[in-house]
Amino acid sequence: MIDSTKIREDFPILHQKINGNPFVYFDNASTSQKPKVVVEAITDYYYRYNANVHRGLYKISAMATEAYDNARKKVADFIGAAPQEVIFTSGTTASINLVANSWGQENLKENDIVVLSEMEHHSNIVPWHLLQKRLGFKIHFLQVDEDGSLQLDDLAEKCKGAKLVSITHVSNTLGTVNPVEEIVKTAHANGAKVLIDGAQAVPHMAIDVKKIGCDFYAFSGHKMCGPTGVGILWGREQLLESMPPFLGGGSMIDEVHLDYSTYAQLPNKFEAGTMNIAQAIGLGVAVDYLQEIGLDNITAHEQQLTEVALEKLKSLDVQIIGNAQNRVGVISFAMNRIHPHDISTILDHEGVAIRAGHHCTQLLMRKFAVPATTRASFYFYNTIEEIDQFVKGLQKVKEMFRRVS
Ligand code: PMP
Repeated sequence: MIDSTKIREDFPILHQKINGNPFVYFDNASTSQKPKVVVEAITDYYYRYNANVHRGLYKISAMATEAYDNARKKVADFIGAAPQEVIFTSGTTASINLVANSWGQENLKENDIVVLSEMEHHSNIVPWHLLQKRLGFKIHFLQVDEDGSLQLDDLAEKCKGAKLVSITHVSNTLGTVNPVEEIVKTAHANGAKVLIDGAQAVPHMAIDVKKIGCDFYAFSGHKMCGPTGVGILWGREQLLESMPPFLGGGSMIDEVHLDYSTYAQLPNKFEAGTMNIAQAIGLGVAVDYLQEIGLDNITAHEQQLTEVALEKLKSLDVQIIGNAQNRVGVISFAMNRIHPHDISTILDHEGVAIRAGHHCTQLLMRKFAVPATTRASFYFYNTIEEIDQFVKGLQKVKEMFRRVS
């Protein structure tokens, strides 16, 4: 069980008034708020032991190195992986671009097939478009049903001859949770590698990459109580070993000669230059924080918020965009003839922060024939009272537009 009152004490940002109303933050799919312990860990690093890692033979450099390595261990434990398989990147986008530019560049040829889906975030489409231009492979898209779930009837057909299936675990627009284990089985049976975009999954549910069985798993720190500027690429050790580095520079080498270089062992091979040390340490603390609350408690609390919100939205006659059976607390909706930007602006007056736009999923906007949606997304520190404030705000939106129309 989540003790909201106690948990909310950890988030000073939630205790302010916005436009004279209690602040309600429902844009968690975009980025989460940060608990004090994470902010303090970052400050502590800068105040007490700011130094580069893996280099200095002096006290505070050793402290920084130990904290950085520890953060990697925490993340590895969190997702059921070994530390050397966990690469620090700047976020999900960077992780996917790493796979595209290293594994993809090395393994994809003209006429090969990459399978994506219509519900991918642009960060799991554009890197493949960029690479496709260079290499000339084909991209097949799994389609999305009216209810927001992935059409999997033709999964085996689409995977036939594919080299890579790259799919989101949870949709950032629809909240749909995809059956990734089933997708992995089918993809592997067809000889394809599988990359899962876990940006919207890791913050909200217990993840075990070995259980999922995929080959790569990417996510961002800032959506899971960590700071911006840090993310993770997990990959199978042997696979990462076989891949060339993506970025070249300091710290990723073994030897550098006039005409060639050799590269460091994992994970350093993929961590060129001075890394996001403070952010990685902050992410490690965020992982501790989430584990203390318990991922199962987080999932259950958000499930309850989602059910309550969906029920209350019914009375307002809004159209929920996609509402798959297996879903998380990301709710995209449309209100008859009212533009999402107007909804968002009016809600802001009421102190409620939600998002309006295409959410970096233009394929989905086209699929559902809308230019944009209004999206409310919850995290474990949100409450039923906040949902009431949000619904009241929507009632005001309806009122105002009734008057002007
Ligand atoms: N994939 C999904 C499903 C996302 O929701 C996001 C962030 N909105 C990303 C990828 C990109 O994450 P980042 O901007 O942290 O790289």
